[in-house]
Amino acid sequence: MKLIDLHCDTIWKLEKAERGCGGEKPRHETLYQNTGHIDIAGMKKAGTTAQFFANFIYKECYENDWDKAYEGALHMIERISREIDAAKQDMELLTSYQQLISMQETFPQRIGAFLTIEEGGILNGHMERLHYLYKKGIRLMTLIWNYENCIGYPNSDDAERMQMGLKPFGMEIVEEMNRMGMIVDVSHLSDGGFWDVVKNSKKPVTASHSNARKICSVRRNLTDEMLKALGENGGVAGVNFYPCFVRENAKSTAADLAVHVQHMIQTGGEDLPAVGTDFDGFDIGESEITHVSQMEKFYDALAKAGLSSRQIEKVCCENAQRLLGAVLSK
Ligand SMILES: [Zn+2]
Repeated sequence: MKLIDLHCDTIWKLEKAERGCGGEKPRHETLYQNTGHIDIAGMKKAGTTAQFFANFIYKECYENDWDKAYEGALHMIERISREIDAAKQDMELLTSYQQLISMQETFPQRIGAFLTIEEGGILNGHMERLHYLYKKGIRLMTLIWNYENCIGYPNSDDAERMQMGLKPFGMEIVEEMNRMGMIVDVSHLSDGGFWDVVKNSKKPVTASHSNARKICSVRRNLTDEMLKALGENGGVAGVNFYPCFVRENAKSTAADLAVHVQHMIQTGGEDLPAVGTDFDGFDIGESEITHVSQMEKFYDALAKAGLSSRQIEKVCCENAQRLLGAVLSK
């Protein structure tokens, strides 16, 4: 099976190991060898053709200062670029759809790496930072994480906050990302922000790592209306493996993931679901799949749930690849 995973936090995990966060002894980990959910051997086993690596920025690690956090993000981008370069017999950094297609034709065993930003707050109102991040290879940005930022508001249990839309700078950012060819990611955004993006974006967008709220009622997941709108927009929703977003008791199996995929198909059509594992972004709850090398369990669960092989290909790769074609074409 060919796989495109739209979201993982592996860079952050490597960075944390290096810094020795949480009182642990600092240790050097790499894409070849680490204690997390994703490594090169595992991706090969999974059939990964492209992995999106998020530069996740936790502003509390930067004294809650967005400008320091921006510097931190640049540091992380340098680090992952070096890592990818050191793995060049197995991996290459990609910045366009055409590069992905040509890699698949010339080196089908290779893994394409796309870089993303998870936390648009680091722009701190500076449009030129977006341009610089693009220059550094960033091709997708998750507009927000769990804090209010210059773009908008995160998802919230407070009904009023949940309805708050994008800020004026957020509207400009979406327009500029459309113009430049950077994928807009609405995961983590307030419902109001989601609707502002979907109504205003001129290109298809993604919820890179969000599930169906009807199946698991948490605010990070998408309502049926949102899934439908995302499908109509030509976008994709990446199924998230974080157990807390899969099942309310935070214990999840591969079959539970298939339930989300089926619901997405019923609600938004078979061109909607994709994969956004969130690997290395969770350590709470119990998941049947705890490493990228075990993705076969997911593929099997989709088949057991009655998806056709064509539908499984769409979910695991083609829907995401179509989005890349629509936004990252040169
Ligand atoms: Zn996230």
